[in-house]
Amino acid sequence: MTSSACEIWGDLSGVRSLFPVLNRTVHKTPLVYLDNAATTPRPQPVIDAVLRYEETFPANVHRGVHTLSGEATDAYENARRRIAAFFGAETLVFTRGATEAINLVANTWASDHLQAGDEILISALEHHANIVPWQMLCERQGCVLRVVDVDDNGELCMQAVEAAMTDRTRLIAITGVSNAIGTLTPINDICAAAKSRGIPSLVDGAQMVPHMPVDVTAIGCDFFVFSGHKMYAPAGIGGLLARTAILEDMSPWQGGGDMIRTVTMERSTWNDVPWKFEAGTPNIGGAIGLGAAVDWLKTLGMEPIATREAALLSDMIGRLQSIDRVHLVGQPSQRAGSVSFVIDGMHPADVGAMLDRHGIAIRAGHHCAQPILERLGYTATIRIAPAFYNTDAEMDVTEQAIRRIIDVFG
Ligand code: PMP
Repeated sequence: MTSSACEIWGDLSGVRSLFPVLNRTVHKTPLVYLDNAATTPRPQPVIDAVLRYEETFPANVHRGVHTLSGEATDAYENARRRIAAFFGAETLVFTRGATEAINLVANTWASDHLQAGDEILISALEHHANIVPWQMLCERQGCVLRVVDVDDNGELCMQAVEAAMTDRTRLIAITGVSNAIGTLTPINDICAAAKSRGIPSLVDGAQMVPHMPVDVTAIGCDFFVFSGHKMYAPAGIGGLLARTAILEDMSPWQGGGDMIRTVTMERSTWNDVPWKFEAGTPNIGGAIGLGAAVDWLKTLGMEPIATREAALLSDMIGRLQSIDRVHLVGQPSQRAGSVSFVIDGMHPADVGAMLDRHGIAIRAGHHCAQPILERLGYTATIRIAPAFYNTDAEMDVTEQAIRRIIDVFG
């Protein structure tokens, strides 16, 4: 274990004891969970906050006059304030996650502002969630999707981004961290370059938020999207962070309850931001759970988390590089969250299934980012995504399991 982890979290057993799922065995072996880029386990403070809502005030928000509804509304709106503050944001719109937040921007701001021939700039690293909504918009409105390529290491170079901006670029939508190969992109520089040209920017922060301190004001983006389940909160909750003025200027997207001020059979008027974008009963327990996750991450500290995870990742990369027939996919100079690799002569899905027999949970496949794998010459990889609570012993177990699988089946 790194000294920083020792100093801050003792021997890690304290922090690990907060994750009930880590007590599980899989195939009669203690679970080694290394699929944190897909979703993170939920710690007890998050589970307790959700349970408290479900058990003591499981009411709808904003509408009720009774005590329970008031408590639910307070908890929901309080969570919104704490989460927005955690990210240095003016306003948080709750969504189901990063995917829904990107679709919200595509269907409101971008639909309103982009015309035929206008360009949306994304990178070759993007998750499908930051590709498909823009393709659909281009189909509808005749816009053009331009893609900044990466180099052969999977690195996104600032010069390439700048070269791809044209006088028709109307939006830059880029991931902060690649979920497939771990590349950390120069997101602050990209947003600054966009701003200096008057181009709005959207950051897909789904893989940033669990791994590093994030201040959206410092990043300088116009839109920032994220998912709760990748930062220790329940699935089905996440958000869009933006300045209030931009959100006020946007048309609503989904219609229904809560997003309206008045409704007649002839026409409706809209609620204030952010509720204008939250049609229907929201994921109240999820929002409260996300608030608890943010509180908990604050007590742990995002800086120590980042330090510990950088050490874990570089340790795992060293181990993988020492194994014959293992090839890393993507060797960016700066990374966070995960490392992808293949093994000569073995299909990633088979390796994933065999690791599961050892109780080790990893992801194998295209990671919902087919274009970047294709760009680097693959259709699937094995992805190991450790998080700060993973131990050095687990890294050892994983390395030994990979070696054994290669020896026996390779
Ligand atoms: N962007 C990135 C970079 C992701 O890793 C993910 C989830 N794998 C998403 C977007 C979509 O997140 P969600 O499915 O939670 O909406």
